[in-house]
Amino acid sequence: MQNNLSSSPALKLLFVSTPVGGLGTGLGGGVELSLYNIAKEMLRRGHTLQIVAPSGSLCNEFPIIEIPGNLQIIAQSQERNDPITMPVNSVLANMWEYARQVQGEYDLIVNFAYDWLPFYLTPFFKTAIAHLVSMGSLSDALDQIICQVSQAFPHTIGFYTHSQGATFPNLISPLYYLSSGIDLSLYEFCDKPKNQLAWLGRISPEKAVEDAVEVAVKTNIPLKIMGKIQDEQYWQKICNDYPNAPIEYLGFLSTDKMQSVVRECKAVLMTPRWVEAFGNVTIEALACGVPVISYSRGGPAEIIQDGKTGFLVEPDSVTGLIDAVLKLDTINRQACRQQAETDFSLNALGLRLENWFQTILHR
Ligand code: UDP
Repeated sequence: MQNNLSSSPALKLLFVSTPVGGLGTGLGGGVELSLYNIAKEMLRRGHTLQIVAPSGSLCNEFPIIEIPGNLQIIAQSQERNDPITMPVNSVLANMWEYARQVQGEYDLIVNFAYDWLPFYLTPFFKTAIAHLVSMGSLSDALDQIICQVSQAFPHTIGFYTHSQGATFPNLISPLYYLSSGIDLSLYEFCDKPKNQLAWLGRISPEKAVEDAVEVAVKTNIPLKIMGKIQDEQYWQKICNDYPNAPIEYLGFLSTDKMQSVVRECKAVLMTPRWVEAFGNVTIEALACGVPVISYSRGGPAEIIQDGKTGFLVEPDSVTGLIDAVLKLDTINRQACRQQAETDFSLNALGLRLENWFQTILHR
């Protein structure tokens, strides 16, 4: 069947979410927003889809098949050569058992889990599986199985960015670089910010929020911090190390509340210690007209136009961040919103995804 909005035939899609937390809880980080946005756009384009996610998912916009079971440990907390582990009654295994049972009802399964099991299971499924890889390389065992799938099932591996893809060894082309996109209508432009900065994301060591706190201390510009606390001890240590910092932790906010704070900030600071696969918060900030100051590594380095929509600074240099904060008046906030509109619309993301899905299905 042909659909109205796109030249692609209408597809029946099964999206299998991350097993590290319920959809909408923030535990999965940016991949939750990506899944949500891709689902929204695929429906708008006339495709049908079903989302499978762990029990406790918080999403009233789409029907979700909620699967019980124990959550997967996050890959970031493990060593590169650790063996693959799964808890008893694993929600990851349960979600993929469900996918196995219903696979005949779908044209394509899309895997959003950064885990070994769905890659390993790929040859055992009759329905094709597209794998959207949401982080850079962190585990030797996962690297190996992704490499094998890229060889045996060409076209099925999708990354956000080239710098993310480049962290994986020995991959076989063709690989897909899908970037990201957001519903721009949900982010309001603000031309006149208050004298405050923002930092948003999962609060976890690889995100290095402490560097942003140091910027707040040294510049005395208040910093609003938003996001899921994934590592409580790490956050407590920061609070103890900087007892008088001009910071305020606002919790994990809905997109609407989050953007209402972000848009009133002079800039968003991004301080990744790792190769950020994309950094959805970068484009959310730009959509509000807010420049982004980031360490020059990973996704943000591919997104931010240095000197025009933010600043890229030497990785791990707090001085570099501070120097950039002092230059913020040279940025035209309209240019930030403009970049979000030109490069990161949901429509453009939908087109890239549709092309990827069609290529997989035509083979
Ligand atoms: N986020 C949110 N509310 C908050 C703070 C962050 O919804 O209060 C979301 C934000 O919209 C983004 C995600 O958290 O989608 C962080 O994703 P990002 O890609 O930046 O990094 P990741 O967590 O995947 O490493």
